[in-house]
Amino acid sequence: MKDIKRVILKLSGEALAAKEGGYNDALIENIAGQVKQVIDKGIDVGVVIGGGNYWRGRSNNNIDRPKADQIGMLATIMNCIYVSEIFRSCGLKTNILTPFECGSMTKLFSKDRANKYFEKGMVVFFAGGTGHPFFSTDTGIALRAIELDADAILLAKAIDGVYDSDPKINPNAKKYDSISIEEVVEKKLGVIDLTASVMCMENKVPLMIFGLEEENSIVNALTGKFNGTIVTA
Ligand code: UDP
Repeated sequence: MKDIKRVILKLSGEALAAKEGGYNDALIENIAGQVKQVIDKGIDVGVVIGGGNYWRGRSNNNIDRPKADQIGMLATIMNCIYVSEIFRSCGLKTNILTPFECGSMTKLFSKDRANKYFEKGMVVFFAGGTGHPFFSTDTGIALRAIELDADAILLAKAIDGVYDSDPKINPNAKKYDSISIEEVVEKKLGVIDLTASVMCMENKVPLMIFGLEEENSIVNALTGKFNGTIVTA
């Protein structure tokens, strides 16, 4: 993989939620500390957060899907506002960009604006996904990574890499150190959704998958101590 100068980090909303409701502040503060170390190394960090802790459009059959997806996109914005504030309380500079206007809560996404913030050493949160229903924050992160020439997408997951079968079900499941995105799609390994996989494949964006629970995993991923799976594109 080429020298990494810019990454977009994906965090799942569910991973950031506390069991008793609300957010796991200790975890978010830990992530902030790691992101600070990465920025101090001169690497730009963008962040995308899912919305599953609040809402998933496709799980609701009572209302029209585009409306359900709007709620999902708003959920990702709430997550970004919260996490951005915790990051700020940890000494990071942040900004939140959305693909649609949210009044004074966020700023409208543009590539130039994102680059301006990166130049200032800010963490840039890309909230609201793609801004369109029937997509996901997986497609959102692929889109932003491609548009902003990121060198890799970092996927911090509940599981520590990509396996050939579910390790919770199969104790002999084998973890890949490296696998191509074509193989991920062919074997239906479900790393990111199909639309996002195809976008990464066509635009040659590699992914690094690792466990959020592993100590210092975000820093490790970028300092040669990577224990997860690289998905090559
Ligand atoms: N969503 C959307 N368009 C996007 C991004 C997200 O409609 O570009 C909505 C969709 O309803 C999704 C929800 O926001 O279920 C939360 O996003 P996330 O990627 O966490 O969803 P998941 O893949 O877990 O359903």
